[in-house]
Amino acid sequence: MSTVTLSKETLNPFEIAQKQFETAADYLKLDAGMRSMLKTPKRQLIVSIPVRMDNGEIRVFEGYRVQHSLTRGPAKGGIRYHPDVTLDEVKALASWMTWKCATVNIPYGGGKGGVRVDPRTLSLGELERLTRRYATEISVIIGPDRDIPAPDVYTTPQTMAWIMDTISMLHGHTELGCVTGKPLSLGGSKGRHEATARGCQVTTRLACELKGINLSSATVAVQGFGNAGSIAAALLHEDGAKIIAASDSKGGIYSRKGIDPVEALKFKEQTGSLFNFPDAEPITNRELLQLNCDILVPAALENTITLENADRIKAKIVAEAANGPTTPAADAILAEKGILVIPDILCNAGGVTVSYFEWVQDLYGFFWSEIEVNKYLERTMTNAFKEVHATAEKHKVNMRTGAYILAVGRVAEATQVRGIFP
Ligand code: NAD
Repeated sequence: MSTVTLSKETLNPFEIAQKQFETAADYLKLDAGMRSMLKTPKRQLIVSIPVRMDNGEIRVFEGYRVQHSLTRGPAKGGIRYHPDVTLDEVKALASWMTWKCATVNIPYGGGKGGVRVDPRTLSLGELERLTRRYATEISVIIGPDRDIPAPDVYTTPQTMAWIMDTISMLHGHTELGCVTGKPLSLGGSKGRHEATARGCQVTTRLACELKGINLSSATVAVQGFGNAGSIAAALLHEDGAKIIAASDSKGGIYSRKGIDPVEALKFKEQTGSLFNFPDAEPITNRELLQLNCDILVPAALENTITLENADRIKAKIVAEAANGPTTPAADAILAEKGILVIPDILCNAGGVTVSYFEWVQDLYGFFWSEIEVNKYLERTMTNAFKEVHATAEKHKVNMRTGAYILAVGRVAEATQVRGIFP
């Protein structure tokens, strides 16, 4: 049993984000004024989105766009469609974007958006009307030099295409750079679809080197089989790793012999879930997290590894493809158990890195090959991993705190030199 005694933990993502920030601010010895500037979101917009449903009924959905920081450049961050989205969740995700962009050293602040909706219950037409009205409502604060959204949970390149078209109609000209993660036919970047997972692969390889694990014979469990999780599974499988379990919101599958992630994704696309995938047993999301494996990839939502289950995690590396999957109390337990956590603001930063490349390509009107995109992505992720690791070693802290010290330090310095207006 762990000797870390924490009686109760908060699962409020914004409180968790604040706590992670404060830990780094203590190491950096930031004064109270700087702390409150860096902690407080710059703008929070709440919008109501009326949508005429297919049956003629009108339903009103609530949406958010939060810009946490604009200090190092325009805000950048995804849009999530989920029935449980809250303003506090979006504030947390926006602040994690600030620290993520600073960790990989790209010239952005942090933002995030969300709509409280289960998109799986809407028709394509309803989803398009909801997206276009939400884009119109938040158009007062987004744009290529102000705040650039991208896909997140249950939003897709198609969602981005509708937003780009809506903003373009409002501006009276085509505005390619106002969102990233767009389809390739519409100013999208080669490699963006796989970028989050590729960043996770690069950082997992480096973590394996640190831990003396041979990735080509490692076992991997992946929770969440969407953009981040399914492609991370496929890329790690290409590296020779054995994917022993995978899951989505409906449950998971397990096989000690290994699952072919590409076949599993095809099966999910055809049948709507992973259930009954040949030669695999059913497994719950809870059981998946506690499997005996080398690498655990949480790639779904926040608060997956908590005080309640951290003690039972057996993986040697946790690669956080998701945002906020580990609570601070769980983090302390994992550290005590010697588990190397590749923190979300590093591990899943490949997505925003290639979003940055997409934005640069859109602004220049000049597009790169997939080889170039992947080369710059790998370089960015490798440099960031090394800097985070060096910072962690210097301060004798875990990789998460190392990443926060690096990122918060960069944003604090930029804030200091910009000064306060007026
Ligand atoms: P997605 O919509 O493509 O996939 C989400 C997956 O999670 C689906 O398979 C869904 O079934 C599963 N899921 C949902 N609830 C679950 C639950 N309670 N238990 C298990 N599985 C569940 O979303 P995505 O883009 O892959 O995002 C996943 C995570 O990665 C999120 O935390 C997101 O913020 C993060 N992320 C995504 C990107 C990106 O570029 N898409 C970038 C950085 C971080």
